[in-house]
Amino acid sequence: MSYQPEKELALRIVREAAKLCQRVQQTQGGKAVKKADTSPVTVADFGAQAILCQGLIDGFPNDPVIGEEDATLLQQPGLEGVRQQIIEQVQQSISTATPENVIDWINWGNGQVAQRYWTLDPIDGTKGFIRGDQYAVALALVEEGEVKLGVLACPAFPREDGGKGVIFLGIRGQGSVEIPLQGGIPQKIKVDPSSNFEQLYRIESVESVHSDRQVQTAIDQRLGLTSVAKQMDSLAKYGAIARGDAHFYTRVPLPQFEGKKENIWDHAAGVILVEEAGGKVTDLEGKPLDFSVGAKLSNNYGVLATNGTIHSQVLAAIEHTPSKSQIIDGDSLAPRSF
Ligand code: AMP
Ligand code: MG
Repeated sequence: MSYQPEKELALRIVREAAKLCQRVQQTQGGKAVKKADTSPVTVADFGAQAILCQGLIDGFPNDPVIGEEDATLLQQPGLEGVRQQIIEQVQQSISTATPENVIDWINWGNGQVAQRYWTLDPIDGTKGFIRGDQYAVALALVEEGEVKLGVLACPAFPREDGGKGVIFLGIRGQGSVEIPLQGGIPQKIKVDPSSNFEQLYRIESVESVHSDRQVQTAIDQRLGLTSVAKQMDSLAKYGAIARGDAHFYTRVPLPQFEGKKENIWDHAAGVILVEEAGGKVTDLEGKPLDFSVGAKLSNNYGVLATNGTIHSQVLAAIEHTPSKSQIIDGDSLAPRSF
């Protein structure tokens, strides 16, 4: 499969969504409202989801879409102004959009997993977006539970020419590339296959509650890592591994979130990017990530993305590292069991 029509559409709409995010950031900074789970959401999250879904409805009307946002929140009293700003922002991108269109487009992202579907995160790393750090507009195509195409627009990602803004694209069997966000020639990217742990970098979330740092540090020590982990918000971490800036990324559920599973849209586009750049992605037990079960990676425990070369060594270190709950229980000598 060449996935040419999917690629053209995905690149166009992710760029358009990223433009909306940049416009919102310039005009409103990091203004946010709280979702039911207390996580922040901005005008840009909703606006970008509307743009992405509108493009997918137009291009592939039969494909379900599973996106992070839902317009139900916008019906709450007091949020009329936010709703209006979202509509105006989307109308700046799509001049014919009516208010009803915008809400319907956002809610198009409430689809169900099927044999073929799209998953998207209009802004992954909303906290990074609010702080003015890294964030990503993420879109991925999944078939038979496996990611086939992934695109990440990272407007704040530093480029080698000194500018900012990168699009990462990975397509099954075709490799991964990076393209300047403003347009330009795609450049092939590859992981750095080094395996000397003294020279390798782990990369982690900026937010300390999104992964268990105590367990991660124990894994680093077992591997003989000497560097301090790099930190980056969002799926841009997968871009960093795919282009050789970092060598592995672990997402270890914290004891207080043991039952909580990862969202498919927080990983799908990154998985294919790393795999097609020569790396490997599994869960913390070495199982492939299963994108066929629903909006969560319910069949998996955490995530491990590496340059491929070191994957089995990192898995072995994880297996022999006690989890924080085991440390708390005083059972620190027991091997980690998932
Ligand atoms: P990151 O930028 O890597 O910190 O990841 C951001 C994503 O983490 C958000 O889009 C959330 O979906 C997700 N998230 C929020 N809380 C948690 C948690 N407790 N564990 C894992 N992921 C989380
Ligand atoms: Mg996210």
